[in-house]
Amino acid sequence: MQRNINVRVKGGLHARPIAELVRLSRAFRADIEILHDGRVALTRSSMKLLMLGVKEGQTVTLRGRGDDTQTAMDQICRFLDGAQAQATPPAKPAIAASDGLAIGPAFHFVQPRVHPEPDYVEACAVESELRRLQGAAARLTARIRADAACTAHAGTRQILQALSDLAEDTEWLDTLAGRVRAGMSSVAAVQQTGTENARQIAALDDPYASARAEDMRSVAHLMALELQGQKPLTLNAAPDGAIIVADELPALDIGNTDLARLGGIVCMKGAVTSHAAIIARAYGVPAVFGAEALRDRLCAAHRIAIDGARGLVIPDPDAATEQQFADAAQAAQKDAADLLRFRDVAPQTPAGHAITVAANLGSVAELDRACAAGAMGVGLFRTELMFIDAAGPPAEDDQYQVYSAILARFPEHPVIIRTLDIGADKPLRGLTATAEENPALGVRGIRLCLSRPDVFKPQLRALLRAAPHGHLKVMLPMVSDLSELRATRDLIDQCRTELTHEGTAHGTFDLGIMVETPAAVLTADLLAQEAAFFSIGTNDLTQYLMAADRLNPNVAQLCRADHPSVLAAIKAVCAAASRHGIWVGICGEAAADPALVPLFIAAGVTELSMSPGAIARVKRQICGLEGL
Ligand code: PEP
Ligand code: MG
Repeated sequence: MQRNINVRVKGGLHARPIAELVRLSRAFRADIEILHDGRVALTRSSMKLLMLGVKEGQTVTLRGRGDDTQTAMDQICRFLDGAQAQATPPAKPAIAASDGLAIGPAFHFVQPRVHPEPDYVEACAVESELRRLQGAAARLTARIRADAACTAHAGTRQILQALSDLAEDTEWLDTLAGRVRAGMSSVAAVQQTGTENARQIAALDDPYASARAEDMRSVAHLMALELQGQKPLTLNAAPDGAIIVADELPALDIGNTDLARLGGIVCMKGAVTSHAAIIARAYGVPAVFGAEALRDRLCAAHRIAIDGARGLVIPDPDAATEQQFADAAQAAQKDAADLLRFRDVAPQTPAGHAITVAANLGSVAELDRACAAGAMGVGLFRTELMFIDAAGPPAEDDQYQVYSAILARFPEHPVIIRTLDIGADKPLRGLTATAEENPALGVRGIRLCLSRPDVFKPQLRALLRAAPHGHLKVMLPMVSDLSELRATRDLIDQCRTELTHEGTAHGTFDLGIMVETPAAVLTADLLAQEAAFFSIGTNDLTQYLMAADRLNPNVAQLCRADHPSVLAAIKAVCAAASRHGIWVGICGEAAADPALVPLFIAAGVTELSMSPGAIARVKRQICGLEGL
């Protein structure tokens, strides 16, 4: 079967539409080829399609064979005709936070407000007000304790325990009772005391003071709700398969529910790299963030369809969209069965380039999923999530346990642990500076660690102690100057000397850097002489090269890893690494982008690290990369 078609895709067949075309074609068994200018490309091969160089307005020939050729041709023709973009007008691209399609009932996650009450009560009502206070305090403490006891997530448990300690603190309760005895209403006493305590705690000279202050505010809010008989909303109230609609999702709420039960998540705020997005990807829950432009329609919606890979949100989808999603979900299921074949493959391109496809992880809880997905080790372990989840910096021993546990799960493969990367989009209450005008250009990543040896050294010591348990590599985030690598090496030497004197067992590890700043790209030749490897963080590298905030949906069209400037930077980094004999990996979100995988490999990248859900798909793509 053969058909001519005029390509009306905006801008022609460049990386982005090619990714969509490849995705569309994989839903069919038929082999469809595009013939153009004497060349031919299978619509499943992004590399070949790129090489065709089809421009908008050019005519190409489609040729197909296989049992579902007719349907495949129809859909591909519609796509090339530019019809698909016009067929979904209600959809507004936001931030593609976690891949996957979902359609289901909307669950509006909005916390109740405390109703206004008079600040004072009559003298005759003081005793009953006191009983009201004591009853609410007892119920609240019991509820938080019960929640802590049944959460499987260690970080959440710690946060809940910290909250229950505060809720039953005798000084807090005595102050409240004193104020109520003096005639204040219990709600006013709770709100006023909570605010005062939080302010005092925040002023303490303690790196985690602001975290404690936030806990105090949470306890006061929960207690005021309890006094009024209002229950705080939890994600556990959402029905199975629901699409959560929220302003943003705090770590506590996410950690406290069985995420896999949910259909999807839509947040008005948030970013690809926010804590919530990372957790959603880790659990394979489709998510779209930055949907602010659709706020009104989302808040009123009863059903929502989302395409997490494309950042599409469709409030109250019509019957045609429902059908489209059902078909796509069925195709995705079929595809998942095919992908199983690639799970245990160590992929090589047809020309014989071996590529390591590793997992990006943020917690030990994600290990099972990574192993089941066929991860060839860990290419990025984001240690900051351990710090963000905990009630204070995790102790050296706790970190040692976590690092050792990850190494033990990958006896055959490297495990790359990134040192603490907080600041900017990953603020940590109590550790990151709050008064920076430009946090993304401020004291973050390695800059913060070097300014806080009290936080950095326990991490380095824990890494040295864990090293004998496997193939450990360590990398530094946000490096912009060689001195940062050298200063870290000095600290590691100090830690090693201390451990030796203490008689504590330890080992060694390769020390590499993340390439995330334009400075690192431009001095890659210098850095490559002292770093054991490069891992390119395309999320930050794109933001800094394009001067486009990775969190700001209004500049998302600029913050693209497929921009020629980013691709040129990656090529330059690979060339510098090759001159100095070190390897290069990619651990930003672009590592799993089907349109970019061939370009990265052609540039010389030998490791790609991504969310576990993308591993088998990328392995399959690598094995089919003709010409590489
Ligand atoms: C990156 O910047 O690409 C990266 C992997 O680091 P993070 O997203 O955690 O900042
Ligand atoms: Mg980064």
